[in-house]
Amino acid sequence: MFENLTDKLTGIFNRLSSKGRLTEKDIDEALAQVRRSLLEADVNFRVARDFVAKVKERSLGADVLESLSPGQQVVKIVHEELTEILSGGDHRLTPSSQLPSVLMLVGLQGSGKTTTAAKLALQLRRQGHSSILIAADLRRPAAISQLQTLGRQLEVPVYSEEPQSSTVTQVVKNGVERARQQGLTWAIIDTGGRLHIDDELMQELEDVKAVAQPHETLLVVDAMTGQDAVNAAQEFNDRVGLTGLVMTKMDGDARGGAALSVTRVTGVPIKFMGVGERSDGLEAYHPDRLASRILA
Ligand code: GDP
Repeated sequence: MFENLTDKLTGIFNRLSSKGRLTEKDIDEALAQVRRSLLEADVNFRVARDFVAKVKERSLGADVLESLSPGQQVVKIVHEELTEILSGGDHRLTPSSQLPSVLMLVGLQGSGKTTTAAKLALQLRRQGHSSILIAADLRRPAAISQLQTLGRQLEVPVYSEEPQSSTVTQVVKNGVERARQQGLTWAIIDTGGRLHIDDELMQELEDVKAVAQPHETLLVVDAMTGQDAVNAAQEFNDRVGLTGLVMTKMDGDARGGAALSVTRVTGVPIKFMGVGERSDGLEAYHPDRLASRILA
């Protein structure tokens, strides 16, 4: 992800740095190219426009053009402003003061919810926490068995009930209770998804949320879906309320605009990035590191 954008930005900034002295026109031309590159990477147009305006304002102020290495100064400003648009809110998980902390994963079908549930359990265990995975997607029996298989592989307990004789809210209530009885630190709920956002899905998630009282409600979004991912984040946040996002498939070759726009557009922080299909393919999110990677 971002390879194309990185190549283009590197080219633009190399040309800028090689000029020595810079005029306002040089800055304008370079920033017009930056804006184009961001749009080509599928960054939301308002986010791209505001970003470029901010970089321009700072580059023309504070003696940047009179400095010894104006090109480098501009790159530094770009790095800082990129970090700024990638930042927002708390990027770490916030545990509850009482056991268990409840984490609810929501998202559209195929976004990577079930895979992410297992990845989180593994990552939490590596940090010394215990967890249970709660299979709350009763509409798709395959989702329950997928979670059970992952749980067996990772030796993480999975709570499930017969889908014919239970309801989603019952499963969630009993699963969280099981975690409490066993003194586990996290209860991770894998909820049902659908191909599209609809009222029934949102109602189900609101019901689960009311029962589970989660400390973290994370939306799992497929970064490959571009601005659709941003729109989904907006809708889920409006309806269910989110504490964070997991951007999956960041290892893919999509253009990356979703990751660059989503926090600015929705106000919801990214907390994790999925970087592969395997259970260890989950990275904690650090805006400054991602900005460095994009400008590498
Ligand atoms: P769910 O329907 O939301 O539960 O989605 P799944 O967890 O079943 O994932 C859907 C597909 O995406 C599976 O083939 C996963 O292996 C794949 N997947 C999930 N996360 C990632 C990721 O970060 N990178 C890659 N390359 N594939 C992923």
